[in-house]
Amino acid sequence: MGKSLSFDIAALLVLLLLLISCIVRKMTSGTPNRLFLAFISFNLLATVFDIWAVALDNASSTNLPALYAAHSGYLMIHNFTVPVYVLFVISLTDTWHKIRKSFWVQFVLWAPFTTVFAALLANPFAKKMFLVDGGYQRGPWFFLIYVAVVVYLVFVIGYMVRYRRLVERSKIIAVMSYIPIGITAMVIQMVSPTTLVEMFSAAVSLLLMSIGVQKPEEIVDSDTQFMKYSAYATDMKRNYRNAKHVDVVMLNLGSFSSINAMMGYDFAMLVLSDVVARIRRVNRKLDNKGELYYLDRGRFRMVFNEKDRESAAKAAEMLVESLKEKSDFNNLDVSLNPFVILAHCPEEIPDFKTLMTFGTDFHEKLKYEGRVMHVDEVYHKGMFEIQNNIDDIIEEALEFNRFQVYYQPIYSVEKGRFVSAEALLRLFDPTYGFISPEILVAAAERSGAIHRIGDYVLEEVCRFIASGDFRKLGLEYIEVNLSVTQCMRVNLAEKVMSIMGKHRVSSEFINLEITETAASHTQEIMAENLNKLTRAGISFSLDDYGTGYSNIKRVIQLPLKIIKLDKSFVDEQDNPKMRVVLKNTVAMLKDMNMEIVVEGIETQEMLDFFTDLQCDFIQGYFFSKPLPKPEFINFLRSQTE
Ligand code: C2E
Ligand code: MG
Ligand code: MG
Repeated sequence: MGKSLSFDIAALLVLLLLLISCIVRKMTSGTPNRLFLAFISFNLLATVFDIWAVALDNASSTNLPALYAAHSGYLMIHNFTVPVYVLFVISLTDTWHKIRKSFWVQFVLWAPFTTVFAALLANPFAKKMFLVDGGYQRGPWFFLIYVAVVVYLVFVIGYMVRYRRLVERSKIIAVMSYIPIGITAMVIQMVSPTTLVEMFSAAVSLLLMSIGVQKPEEIVDSDTQFMKYSAYATDMKRNYRNAKHVDVVMLNLGSFSSINAMMGYDFAMLVLSDVVARIRRVNRKLDNKGELYYLDRGRFRMVFNEKDRESAAKAAEMLVESLKEKSDFNNLDVSLNPFVILAHCPEEIPDFKTLMTFGTDFHEKLKYEGRVMHVDEVYHKGMFEIQNNIDDIIEEALEFNRFQVYYQPIYSVEKGRFVSAEALLRLFDPTYGFISPEILVAAAERSGAIHRIGDYVLEEVCRFIASGDFRKLGLEYIEVNLSVTQCMRVNLAEKVMSIMGKHRVSSEFINLEITETAASHTQEIMAENLNKLTRAGISFSLDDYGTGYSNIKRVIQLPLKIIKLDKSFVDEQDNPKMRVVLKNTVAMLKDMNMEIVVEGIETQEMLDFFTDLQCDFIQGYFFSKPLPKPEFINFLRSQTE
């Protein structure tokens, strides 16, 4: 009985369609794509030879050269598809740099294939693999083909298990489907030798791989045809995980956001496509050694392998040169302000998370200079680590009671002594040391931990006020900072009162400092909270006056007792114009019956200036830095003695 060709013909069609679809979808560059194309092509070729061989067999051909050519061709090419599959799997893990170093891995990759190939070459004379005279028959060495396949499959499974973390699970499943499908086909063909399903099964698993693994729309950005943010994240994460050294040229266009906001989408796209063309030109001059990515909002990346370090450096220089000149778009002069940083990873940026945080907004932290910049100009290792781990740091600090409250004395000009103090949050982390309260507060506002921290500070302050020391030291009240989020808390007033009640602290001893914000939605709840607390007898200060938004309006609307002039005012009091502003500001606030605290007084000269202006209170390093409670108490005692 002849063998049926229908499965082979179906395989041929599927493979042809796959090949065409890969080309149409432009999946032709990059190692995984090229290997996948090779994989399809070899399977296609093997199918053609199989059809030829089966046709000859079915016709009981006696043309020996043709029979040898057809059968050897099929077996050789089919034998070759398996190592190509292995290479494709390796390329998905991007671990070539590891393979190149290992003799044994290379040996396992090439030895089985070469052995079978040699045996097939010798077959027309040795006749050990198969015989064709008097019908096709397997020879005694035919099992070598199976041995080779088993070696490769064991290798692939081992490799995937070893590097499973480098490839997404769905991709692993798609790529490994080749094995069970292939084995099923082999079993079917063993049981029913006339049903030729081997090539068809290969075509089916290639189809699965094409659907599950090779998805260009998942990785290519449609505006730029560069790879997308997610592809950059996946690739860089993998590089960090398998310790692959790469050079990343980071380009953030400093003015892209404002171009987009001011000129609109179409114009921004025009600019974008011009920049894309220039980046391509740069890469072409460097033999396309860089992998190109477009993240979003005018942020591009070129990633180079370690061996192309020189090209990376050149790329960075060329990008700056090509983008820094003003360009003409629709008769408008546009400056792109390219910020370019060359980073050796992982040497200079130690982990993936930091790389991503760093890349988001380094252009906002730097002054534009039109040159290639270096990582250490922006990146302060400790700072980044703190920012990356801040949520854990705060949670741990709350759990292990690591927060502290320091006090900075506030001097009354009228009374000639210290009458109050500002409570300031402090954290000394065992790993990172001192962490600025500004960072803590900002992070705690995001995570919601601010409420617990705020409650802690207020409790500490109440405990201090309730202790005997407080009154003996001649203190009248303590100023406690409230962050914006705290002011928006619905039950803020109740919480504050309950903490004060618990420690039997009367409301006149607490003054709450609030800061201004631009967000109008915060104002209603804030005003409501403030009114409730004012009615309960608590007074308020407006902190950092002179730095925020529409201060005057706020000063009029909110129930405030004290205004705290920000340090930035104080720092500029040498400037004659600033002196005018200060003089009039102070006069105006006094006319409104506000009390004035001047913050950040560091010198005698500053002190004299503000005392002459008749400000009521002075706070600053000139008198004392914020101090831990016992030292603060000692400080005040030494003042009264
Ligand atoms: P702020 O409320 O304006 O606090 C004044 C800041 O100026 C403090 O910084 C203080 O140490 C500093 N300072 C005082 N005198 C001088 C001086 O003469 N020269 C200089 N250069 N600086 C001076 P600190 O303690 O780092 O606090 C920074 C900010 O963190 C505070 O600004 C406040 O907004 C926030 N913060 C601190 N503690 C808390 C808290 O318990 N809760 C909340 N919500 N925010 C807090
Ligand atoms: Mg304050
Ligand atoms: Mg302040």
